[in-house]
Amino acid sequence: MVSFQSFIIDPEYPMGMYIHVYEAEAKDSRIKERGKAGGAVTAILLYLLEEKIVDTIIVARKKHGLRGETYVVKTPEEILEAVGSIWSVVPYTLGLKEKLLSPEVKKSVFVGLPCQAQFLRQMKMFPLLESDFSSKIYLIISLFCMGTFAIESFLSYVHTSYRVSPDDITSVEIVKDKLLIKHVKGELTISVDEVLPYLQHGCLTCPDYTGVFADISAGRSPESESTLLISRNKMADKIIRDAASKGYIGIREASVKVIDNAIEKSREKILRSYKYVSTLI
Ligand code: SF4
Repeated sequence: MVSFQSFIIDPEYPMGMYIHVYEAEAKDSRIKERGKAGGAVTAILLYLLEEKIVDTIIVARKKHGLRGETYVVKTPEEILEAVGSIWSVVPYTLGLKEKLLSPEVKKSVFVGLPCQAQFLRQMKMFPLLESDFSSKIYLIISLFCMGTFAIESFLSYVHTSYRVSPDDITSVEIVKDKLLIKHVKGELTISVDEVLPYLQHGCLTCPDYTGVFADISAGRSPESESTLLISRNKMADKIIRDAASKGYIGIREASVKVIDNAIEKSREKILRSYKYVSTLI
């Protein structure tokens, strides 16, 4: 399927429009105690809940390996319990509408993937359905995404080639150009190129790496254990700065090198989408 984004992300501005790019770390001791690198997204969510700016947060949580589920978080304790198991790059659309229509959700933050950010942004801009649930979304945070896997065929490949059983996989992360698969007996590193054929076909035509339709985009900084935060409008920038001034996160302007790296990856993804789209037409 050719993504709508193919036609609207300008290769001249592959990261979309933004106000600032920050490198950020969680300062909140409750997150640091749990030993997770970065953690700035978690800290911002804590800030938004504790300051009662929102009442709920909708995220993906890894259930098992690559599989995910939609999850509504209502308390800071639930966020802290879930540190490390959420913010994963997993596709989830099933259940999203149901969660948003729930009466417990009134003013929410959505944390998801660029394609989901696009879907929600379009719903907010052009509400078409009678039961428009997008008005409940106060803030959209998109995680950087290079693609998600066609789960069954990917797991079958890992099992056949590396004798790692799907049931033993505890997490899958993309680290630079490698896939780091943690399982109950250890770790496995595979080059991303090797498993490219197992990406969802829709992902191969998707040009959006950072989530240009989000209010805030977030991903791992290439230089450090920090989180890269991109603020795309004044409200998002104020949230990041307020979270910093209240001591939840530390922020500094990202260096030119770090921004260039994110631009390069964004451009790589656009070029990949052009390549695959050209095979379809
Ligand atoms: S690559 Fe694009 S379509 Fe695939 S999961 Fe990521 S954002 Fe969504």
